[in-house]
Amino acid sequence: MPTLNEKAASLGASRSAIRELFEYGKSRSLEAGGDKICDFSLGNPSAPPPAELRAAYFEALSSLAPKDLHGYTSAAGDFETRKAIADAITTEESFEVLPENMFLTTGAAAALCAVFFALTSSPGDEFAGFSPFFPEYRVFAGVAGGVFVAVSADTKNFQINFEALESAINEKTRAVVINSPNNPSGAVYTKETIKTLAGILKKKSALFGHTIYIVTDEPYRELVYGGVTPPFVPKYYDDTIICYSYSKRFSIPGERLGYALVNSRASDCRRVYNAIAGGARVLGHVCAPSLVQKVIARSARLKPDMTVYAKNREILYENLTKMGYTCAKPDGAFYLFVKSPFGSGAAFSAKAKEKDILVVDGATFGCPEFVRIAYCVDTSVCERSLPAFEELIKGGRGK
Ligand code: PLP
Repeated sequence: MPTLNEKAASLGASRSAIRELFEYGKSRSLEAGGDKICDFSLGNPSAPPPAELRAAYFEALSSLAPKDLHGYTSAAGDFETRKAIADAITTEESFEVLPENMFLTTGAAAALCAVFFALTSSPGDEFAGFSPFFPEYRVFAGVAGGVFVAVSADTKNFQINFEALESAINEKTRAVVINSPNNPSGAVYTKETIKTLAGILKKKSALFGHTIYIVTDEPYRELVYGGVTPPFVPKYYDDTIICYSYSKRFSIPGERLGYALVNSRASDCRRVYNAIAGGARVLGHVCAPSLVQKVIARSARLKPDMTVYAKNREILYENLTKMGYTCAKPDGAFYLFVKSPFGSGAAFSAKAKEKDILVVDGATFGCPEFVRIAYCVDTSVCERSLPAFEELIKGGRGK
């Protein structure tokens, strides 16, 4: 028997519950026919990438020399790309963002890993985050030697349960991780929520004598409905690090581009940035994929087309609530987080699966009474699923 890193072996052997359901959906589709399955398991964007973005790929491919297109870039990414992104944010937010403080990564996942690594000064350092949370935070914090601490949810509005947060923060807390627009609730934090959070963290940083950072994970930043604008966190809290991704904004999760951005007002900004660059290096980062960097340099101001997601959100939210389901109307992202009519999300997910409706048990996100419906699918799938959701709630009533 080889001697292995047992933690890694067990992580590799067990797929996440989301991936497990997605793989089941693929094999069930082969067996029953794809049009029989309503697969709401994975946050894989269904809207096509913007035409302008695809045009930027062709333009980059035809105009740039192969060594510029396919060669290594700086570890932090091309300066031109970082400048284009930083300038776009500066204009959009009327708040200066500097390319020197931006480190391009292979998606938000890699940005989070590098940031957790950078902020973990001793084994067991803590990263507090709110249920419902993106389950990989546990894995990413663990790899860095830290621990992700789940703070209980405000399941009414999915803003922040501040009482629970106050008691979760201690001398080991290195950062509070937030994700707005949220996967899986679709909630967008209000300005008041961010201001209150900032106030608490200033107070706690002073109390414990070290900076407690906000790590804001924002892959859904531009995916919002009805004119909602997520507050730009660095405006409210100096010690903020943004982890961003183009995966969802442009429907290019396979292209793997994101960044970590340190607020230039952060205390010791340069050292924090260097620690992130060092964290990325330790984790095997060489540079983010080159071609997509060139494309984003040409497309940094493009916005996503929300037509399909807005339609799907309306169909599912209106019909499910009319049937008697309880869920908060999402202001962003492309998920509905629905209370189980069977008591537990696990029971709902299992009963739905029997009807070829694939929804993820909320326990995965730290809220075991809910399920997540990822509506980044064809609209026909949402429409087709309605009779089964109706039968399910009739079966679950009174439980
Ligand atoms: N954070 C959240 C909240 C997500 O939902 C995801 C992906 O679904 C990620 C991070 C990772 O995204 P990326 O594809 O950029 O690595």
